[in-house]
Amino acid sequence: MPGPRLVILGKQGAGKGTQAQRLAAHYRIPRISTGDMFRTAVEHNTEAGQKAQKYMEAGELVPDDVVIEMVEERLKDSDARRGFVLDGFPRNAEQARALDEALGRKAVDLVVELEVPTDVVLRRLASRRVCLNCGAPYSTDRPPAQNWTCDICGGAVVQREDDTEAAIARRLDVYTRQTEPLVAYYLGQDKLASVDGTGQPDQVTGRLLRGIDSRLNRRSGGTVDGDREEMG
Ligand code: AMP
Repeated sequence: MPGPRLVILGKQGAGKGTQAQRLAAHYRIPRISTGDMFRTAVEHNTEAGQKAQKYMEAGELVPDDVVIEMVEERLKDSDARRGFVLDGFPRNAEQARALDEALGRKAVDLVVELEVPTDVVLRRLASRRVCLNCGAPYSTDRPPAQNWTCDICGGAVVQREDDTEAAIARRLDVYTRQTEPLVAYYLGQDKLASVDGTGQPDQVTGRLLRGIDSRLNRRSGGTVDGDREEMG
């Protein structure tokens, strides 16, 4: 049975990576993180990585054509046919329109917005750590079991290079100006569910699953599958 097609929205440090990973495991769908894809591309010095690096270091958005092409290619992979959770995409109106066009009648089922006040995300970002290899999220409060080695893949767990004070301020500003307007965009499509992202990760996951399941069931009259039928 197919899973849902989800987008997770929220400021940097709102917990998107952690929660997207949990949603992916719960619904058995891939988590597609454009930030992780770019970090891997930079590490392997690919063409996309070379194009993206300077924007990432400055906390700016990578140009739309580079991101959109990368996501469209990823969505063609067979694992994305049974659903997905997009983490970090779309980030602006142009990308949201491109996603609607790419998916056509199979457009996303639901967009969940994680609401977290700015002072909380600033505190979380200071303690955030990430696996360089698989992108698994950690923090100084929730470190891996062994010596900053990823519990999942054994990769090195480090502080992100763009988690500097200046780049964080820049990214939050970009979020307010370019990404937050997507809330209205998806509200207009009746696809937005806003969820309180404060508190412990388990509490937030519980809220998200309840919110997603009730919205998708309500729309399909019982099953996520039914919703899919209706939308083609
Ligand atoms: P993230 O891990 O989602 O915070 O992304 C890290 C960085 O990758 C961002 O600050 C951007 O420079 C770049 N990036 C990730 N996703 C996108 C996107 N959808 N559009 C443009 N740039 C992106």
